[in-house]
Amino acid sequence: MTAASLMTRADGILDRLKAVVGPAGFLEAADDTAPFRTSFGGTFQGETPLVLRPASTAEVSAIAGLCSAARVPMVPQGGNTGLAGGAQPDASGTAVIVSLDRMRQVRAVDGANDTLTVEAGVTLAEVQAAAERIDRLFPLSLASEGSCRIGGNLATNAGGTQVLRYGNMRALTLGLEVVLPGGRIWNGLRGLRKDNAGYDLKHVFIGSEGTLGFITAATLRLFPRPRAVETAMLALADVADAVRLLTLARGLMGDQLTAFELMRAPSLVHAVAAVPGLSSPFAAAHAWSVLVEASGQETGEGLRATMEAFLEQAFGAGLVEDGVVAASGAQRQRLWALREAQAEAQKHAGPGVKHDISVPVRAIPDFLAAADAALAAAFPGIVPFTFGHVGDGNLHYNPIMPAHWSVEERARKAPDINRIVHDVVARLDGSISAEHGLGQLRVREAEHYKAPVELEMMRALKAAFDPLGLMNPGKVLAYSSERLS
Ligand code: ZN
Repeated sequence: MTAASLMTRADGILDRLKAVVGPAGFLEAADDTAPFRTSFGGTFQGETPLVLRPASTAEVSAIAGLCSAARVPMVPQGGNTGLAGGAQPDASGTAVIVSLDRMRQVRAVDGANDTLTVEAGVTLAEVQAAAERIDRLFPLSLASEGSCRIGGNLATNAGGTQVLRYGNMRALTLGLEVVLPGGRIWNGLRGLRKDNAGYDLKHVFIGSEGTLGFITAATLRLFPRPRAVETAMLALADVADAVRLLTLARGLMGDQLTAFELMRAPSLVHAVAAVPGLSSPFAAAHAWSVLVEASGQETGEGLRATMEAFLEQAFGAGLVEDGVVAASGAQRQRLWALREAQAEAQKHAGPGVKHDISVPVRAIPDFLAAADAALAAAFPGIVPFTFGHVGDGNLHYNPIMPAHWSVEERARKAPDINRIVHDVVARLDGSISAEHGLGQLRVREAEHYKAPVELEMMRALKAAFDPLGLMNPGKVLAYSSERLS
């Protein structure tokens, strides 16, 4: 089927869908739908004759009911900041995009229960601000927080820089409201910390990337706002010392340790070159650096003394070559700016092949040694580029391809580079998708590595919730027709 065939269907399905949302709730001109059909950065593009923008759960339900009856695939979309193409339809033009970006209500704020109930289209930054208004913290923090939406964060089980202390989106969620593919609404917005009454269905939807239903609202956990923050950046000769430092920091700081971020030498140099105003805090060049942050309720000198004790022991054990502690909020921001500039640094360094892998924390040095060696042997001239979250065992391992490779060569070799890296991940019992999701980017790779029994359970879940295969087809699991061929 082509886009034209969906547009010229005799059943008038497109008109009926438009009637559900009214004139303010749909886009159909190609120029208007382009930002929805194209992924962030332009990597993924799809076709659709219609983008629907429902403003309420009732409208999402009506859309799902009509689409199911007419067998029209639905592609849910949040802030469209994903990196794996999970929010784009395929090229056939047979699906509609359903953007939740007009569902912007903060439905409830409960300071006593420490919860917030928001609709899917609220941005992450707005959720953080709503928590702050009642002197609480919503700890999820990512580079795209100004534009990503909580529905997308839930659909991908987003992680970020605070997972070490607070967990990922799964750990931050107490309840969901979901519209099933046939249009039925499940109100699971229970703000309970204990609820053992059967299967925990919210976890089926979190991280399912819109393949089982529409998440329309969520009840989220809030935390006390830290009164004190201490931030340090340390230079290391060897990445194995980063793992040792993490163990040391955990022992001294316990739950006060909130971030432990890793950067590799060339990425720091490129960050400084790419972003005006940035500078390295170190006089010399070092192979690795880590950004360590602790936060807590205790004001005064308590947390500073803990950070200083950590640095003293780190230097004493010979784990670090140099180190700085932020003396002010401005200095703290300058250190974080180096970490946050890693995506810009990546662009400055040249075209890279992105990986979002995780391994057990102790295996990080083994992963890097094995992946670096295997890539260097297969593709001489490839340059390592790595940053990530040591405490989560999650690395963005994005080697830069040699400058002399043509565009065609890059496209041809990227899958081989993926396979080499992912083979190392598999050998170390890791995951090929730690926090970005599979989307359409890594579906084939996931099917290559997952055990048959795991894939069978995933397909059984898909069939139970979406028997017609209409929810975000081709994401998380490959198309069923292709699986049979
Ligand atoms: Zn990350």
